[in-house]
Amino acid sequence: MNPSGPNALSSQETSPASATGHAVIAVEDVHKTYDLGETKVHALRGVTLSIRRGEFVAIMGASGSGKSTFMNIIGCLDKPSSGRYLLEDTDVAQLDKKQLAGIRNRKIGFVFQGFNLLARTSALENTELPTLYARIDRAERHQRAVDALNMVGLSERMDHFPSQLSGGQQQRVAIARALVNRPSILLADEPTGNLDSRTSVEVMEIFQNLNNKGLTIILVTHEHDIAQFAKRNIIFRDGKVRRDELITTQSIASEVLKTMPTVEE
Ligand code: ADP
Ligand code: MG
Repeated sequence: MNPSGPNALSSQETSPASATGHAVIAVEDVHKTYDLGETKVHALRGVTLSIRRGEFVAIMGASGSGKSTFMNIIGCLDKPSSGRYLLEDTDVAQLDKKQLAGIRNRKIGFVFQGFNLLARTSALENTELPTLYARIDRAERHQRAVDALNMVGLSERMDHFPSQLSGGQQQRVAIARALVNRPSILLADEPTGNLDSRTSVEVMEIFQNLNNKGLTIILVTHEHDIAQFAKRNIIFRDGKVRRDELITTQSIASEVLKTMPTVEE
């Protein structure tokens, strides 16, 4: 995984997040207002939290509570209306659009509910796409895509098109694509929302394997069972953090899978 560079620890000492150790994400009193002309929607109303390297966090909360808005901000897809966001000690508010895109490509991988794969493009080529923006040569791009597909257990199906893959396999390609630039943070917004229960647990098994290797993962889910595979649950309500708690008995996906019937692909 991507180390955050030699300055990460020393500059941490001056950051307000130092109380929680090596914060990769530190959000302070973040508000987000969507301006719809006549009306304003106050989607985030003062969110303060930090997430350390190697955490696995599930974000929960009712529809409209601000989960996706929060993910978009920490993923540098959008900026807070007010408040501060430090991503590995970089104050995101100070960055212009181009710098924001750069930091996003280097540090963050995204997985969404819809797999968003290109239809007439093989699993390998889909996985390779984000590397086109990285300054690496063709052979290295290919190797990284192969490695990423290996990590999600899809090395046998690299030449398949999305239509030749099950939903779970398509989501695994999407995870490989999110990993190919070797991000330090993986963000997933309802990644199991379109999957059956066994396939959902298989995706959680991949996430737990990646987390065990040190990847920081932040996942949005409305399913309580899925949230139990994480190590920490944060519950949003009306644009604020309502609860933030450590999971004392984390579900282990590989164990849960043994208790579930297999489905023919
Ligand atoms: P969640 O992901 O928890 O369902 P969202 O972050 O998507 O919640 O939405 C929070 C609030 O902000 C909702 O009231 C939603 O309608 C509003 N909202 C989200 N995105 C936009 C947008 N792009 N423009 C206007 N309002 C938005
Ligand atoms: Mg949402």
